[in-house]
Parts: sequence; C-alpha cells; structure tokens
Amino acid sequence: MPKAACRAADFNFNFMRTLVTPDEARQIVLDNIEVLPSETVTHALVIGCTLARDIISDVQLPPFDNSAMDGYAVIAADIANAAQNAPVKLQILETIAAGQFPQREITSGVCARIMTGAPLPQGADAVVMREDTREGENEVEILVSVPPATSIRRAGSDVARGETVLHDGTIIGAAQWGMLASLNQENVVVARRPRVLIITTGDELVPLGTPLQDGQIRDSNSFALSALAQNCGAIVQIKHVGDKAEDLEKTLESAQDFDAVITSGGVSAGDFDPVRDVLKARAQVHFWKIAMKPGKPVMFASWKNGEKTIPIFGLPGNPVSVMVAFEQFVRLALLKMQGRRALHRVTVCAKLSGPLRSPAGKTEFVRALVLPDGDGWTAHLTGDQSSGRLSTMTRANALLVIPEGTTSLETGQTVTAQMTEWPEIEIQSVGT
Ligand code: AMP
Ligand code: MG
Repeated sequence: MPKAACRAADFNFNFMRTLVTPDEARQIVLDNIEVLPSETVTHALVIGCTLARDIISDVQLPPFDNSAMDGYAVIAADIANAAQNAPVKLQILETIAAGQFPQREITSGVCARIMTGAPLPQGADAVVMREDTREGENEVEILVSVPPATSIRRAGSDVARGETVLHDGTIIGAAQWGMLASLNQENVVVARRPRVLIITTGDELVPLGTPLQDGQIRDSNSFALSALAQNCGAIVQIKHVGDKAEDLEKTLESAQDFDAVITSGGVSAGDFDPVRDVLKARAQVHFWKIAMKPGKPVMFASWKNGEKTIPIFGLPGNPVSVMVAFEQFVRLALLKMQGRRALHRVTVCAKLSGPLRSPAGKTEFVRALVLPDGDGWTAHLTGDQSSGRLSTMTRANALLVIPEGTTSLETGQTVTAQMTEWPEIEIQSVGT
C-alpha cells in the first residue's frame, strides 16, 4: 500500500473508533487556534473588544487633590476641639465649585466652602461635610473634629502616572470603557474581532417567517449560534446550504475572509451528512467524536484556503447539542483568538435538588438552573435532558458536569456547575 493511502487507512480506522474526552478536545482546539492580529479602534467602538496592549497611564487620577464631599475645606488642627456643644467658628473666604480653581489660601481661622470634585485650596488639609456644620453667609460653625486628610481625594490616589491600569487580554466592559475615557485614550489597540461564518445544513429547515410544509422544521440553530458567537465578541455571518455536499464545499472554498467556520448539523452518521463527508475529504480533521452527552458528533478540522488555514467546527444539529458543543469548544477558540486571559467559565459546587442518572463512559453536561441557597448553591434540573429539547436550555443558567465514571447521583450530592449565566434572583423560578 502506498504510504499516503496507508496513513489514510490508519486515520480512517482511528477516526471511526476514537472518542476523545472533552478535556482532550479542548486542548486540541486550543493547540490549533492562533491569536488574531490587533487593530486600532476608535474609543466609541471598543466596548466588548479585548485589549491587545497593556494600558499604561501617562496621567494621574485624580489629576489634583480634590474634595470628596460638599462641605468646608479647613485646617484640621483648627477644629481639633470642635463638637456639637462646642462649635468652632471659621470665616468663609470663597466658594469653590467643581471645575473652578481656588483663589485664596487657607490659613488658621478661615475656610472655603467647597463642592465635591472641586480642587482643594492651598493650606487646607481636611474637608468637613456640610451636614456637620451650621452654615451662615460669611461664617460657618464646625460641629465635629476630623483628622487630617478626611474627605480628600489625593492626586494620583486612583491611578498613578506610569501605572499599568488595564492588562492586555482584558475585555472592555463598562468600567474599562470609562477608565479609557478618563485616560483620554481616543484610540485603543484591541484584538480584531473574529469573523465567524455560521453554516446551517439540513434540507428540512425553513427560515423564520416562512410557512412550514409537512416534515419541515424551523431553523433555530443559526440564531442560537449567532448569539453565542456574538457574546464571545465575534462578527457573524449566516449561510444556509442544505444537505448537498457540493454546496457546502463551495461555501467553504469561498470562506477565506473568515477566521472560523461553525457548521450546524450534517456531521453524524446519517445518509445525508455533508459536513462529515466534505471535511473528511477536504480538511485536516483533528477529532470527530467526543465522549460526551449531548454533543457527541463534533468534528474539528483545519481547512486550508490559499495561505490561510481556517478552523472549522462541525457541530451537531440538535438544538441543545449545538449549544453545549459551542459552549465547550468554540467559545474557548473565539476567546483565545482575541487573546483573552480568562477562557473558562466560572464553576461552582452545587447540591442536586433531585437524583440524577447519567450514562457510563461519557461526560454529561446537564442543563440546570443553579440558584444561591444559604451559603452555597442548589442545582435544579430544567427537565428532560434529550438533545432536541431547546426549552430546557431556555430555563438553564448552568451546565452540570457529570464525569464519565459517574452513573448515578442522589439528592443533596455535590456536582460541578459551569455557570453560563448568573441568576437574576428576583425573576427566576424553578419550573420544569
Ligand atoms: P443532523 O445532525 O443534521 O442529523 O440534525 C439533527 C437534528 O437536529 C435533526 O432533527 C435536525 O432537524 C435538527 N436540526 C439540524 N439543524 C437545525 C437547525 N439549524 N435548527 C433547528 N434544528 C436543527
Ligand atoms: Mg441534517
């Protein structure tokens, strides 16, 4: 047998038999994913992007000493003996609003009325809040003593000049966006957002809004996948190709502008599974089947397209399997592409609210609603765990990870829960 044919035969043999574990599959995915090049993006568009450089401050925040309260800027020693029944009277030199600059120096016996955020006048070393004073037009009675530095925000106390404020690999959320503005970063170097092509297969599928004929079902995976990918920072395009291998092949051949392709359906052992056939014939397949439930048929391959090698995730068609497989593998890849530091979901230990049976030899990812319960968490299964039941996914905020050796668990036993969402406690209910 020629060498290449021999390798192909070995490969096919292994291919059919070997199930990788979810952990092995994750590692293979990460080993085959590269970080995307960075780009400079205007401040207005960076929310949800990932920093590709450390942000080092060239200013100090706050830029000057200022008041943390509406009140009076004083010399602390002047009011050391002040009390409700022993007020200390100080003359008011001026009123300093935020945005103004003090004109007068504070010396013994005088003070300045000062608003939150206004610069601290020379000589003052504390601010007494308005509520602790009896105010007059030109004089104020201070009714408490405060130590020096009270209610003063020192220049540079939040951020020092030269400090690394944000690290590369950080996603830009609300606080980071605000911080970048505080640092006057008009342009930000971020990882390019992954461009992801989602391809749905299946001749039975009908798009939203079109009447269903006998035997047809509505496409839901393109929406679920699209949301999952966008939540990972990706820019998504969707194509539907049906079950003809040639159509899929053509679509993949013209996918060179994408950083990753996700297919839905057509990847298992059926007669009309084009993803399986096309990827086996045309791509380098890294794995096909994973010892997990749901989501066993997942094909991960590299497609050479000119100079570019595009990772392709052939995900199953069942609406839950596709989401679980995305969650376990594609998410990691999209985050790694952006240089994200934290790739994995937070897990918590949760107590089962009821018993659970699980198949041997497979890691099971069980849909559950995990809610806080006293000092810990309780996991409520969201219903029947078959892989077509998308409704059970809509009620879940976690996937319980049941190891392959575990076949039964009793009420109260502890499981690891991957938190895919965090509960909004007020609106959650435990229905099935
Ligand atoms: P397959 O893996 O192609 O055999 O598909 C498995 C099951 O998932 C079948 O019942 C399909 O009809 C269903 N399915 C496949 N693609 C989609 C989709 N885009 N939206 C909803 N269901 C789908
Ligand atoms: Mg199909």
